[in-house]
Amino acid sequence: MFINIQPIGKIHTPYKEKFAIPRQPGLAKSAQGKIIFLEEFNYPNYLRGIEQFSHLWLLFHFHQTADKGHSPLVRPPRLGGNQKLGVFATRSTFRPNGIGMSVVEFVAVCYRDKQLTLTVKGVDLLDGTPIVDIKPYIPYADSIPLASAGMAQNSPAMMAVNFTEEAHRQLNKLEPRYPALGSLIREVLSQDPRPAYHKDSHSDKTYGMTLFDLNIQWQVINQQNVVLTIQII
Ligand code: SAM
Repeated sequence: MFINIQPIGKIHTPYKEKFAIPRQPGLAKSAQGKIIFLEEFNYPNYLRGIEQFSHLWLLFHFHQTADKGHSPLVRPPRLGGNQKLGVFATRSTFRPNGIGMSVVEFVAVCYRDKQLTLTVKGVDLLDGTPIVDIKPYIPYADSIPLASAGMAQNSPAMMAVNFTEEAHRQLNKLEPRYPALGSLIREVLSQDPRPAYHKDSHSDKTYGMTLFDLNIQWQVINQQNVVLTIQII
C-alpha cells in the first residue's frame, strides 16, 4: 500500500546548509521561518483561527537526506556517534519516509500580493524544506512534564559565545538588515555545532557556517566560541 503525500508549502529559514542547524526546535529561538503556501493551499481559510495557538507542530520532509535511504540502526550525535540505536528510538533524519516534526512558535499570518505566508520562530529546518502539514500544539495533550527521555532527557550543554572587536563591528553594521542576527549567531554557536570527534581536540581550527547569505567564522578558545568574522558571501 502506498500513501500519496503532497507538500502544502515550503519554508524559508536562515539555515542554508545542514551544518550548525540546532538538533531540535527552540534551541535557537531567534531562527525565524516563513512558510510560503503552494497554489492549492494558498487561501487564508486554511489558517483561519491559527493565531489563537502560541505554538504549532510542523510536519515536514527531510528532503536533503531523503535519497540516502535508511537503516534500522543509527548513531545519535548525542551519544558521541559511538553507539547505535534503532532509528525509531531516535529523531534521526535518516528514517523510512523521511518525516520530521518540530514544535515552533507562532509569529504571524499574512496574505499579501495574493500570497499566503505563515511566520514562525525557533525552527530547526533547512531553507527550502517542504512542509507537509501544520497542527496546533495543544499543551494538555502534547506536554508531559514527567516523561522520561533517556539520553535526551535534558537539553544539550551550552557553550559561551564571544565576538572579537572586528566581528562586533561587522555585526553592528549588518544588524539593521538582518534583525536579531547577533542573538541567532549566539544561540546557534552555543549549541557547539562541531562534529563530535572535534569536541575533545584543542586545535586552533577555524570553523565556518552559513546563515542567510553570511559566512560566519569562529574558533574555540578555552572552551568558548569566539566569532572572528561575519561576511556577506
Ligand atoms: N525536530 C525534528 C524532528 O525531531 O523530527 C528534526 C530533528 S533532526 C535531528 C534536526 C536536524 O535535521 C537538523 O540539525 C538538520 O541538520 C537536519 N535537517 C533540517 N532540515 C532538513 C532537511 N530538509 N533535510 C535534511 N535534514 C534536515
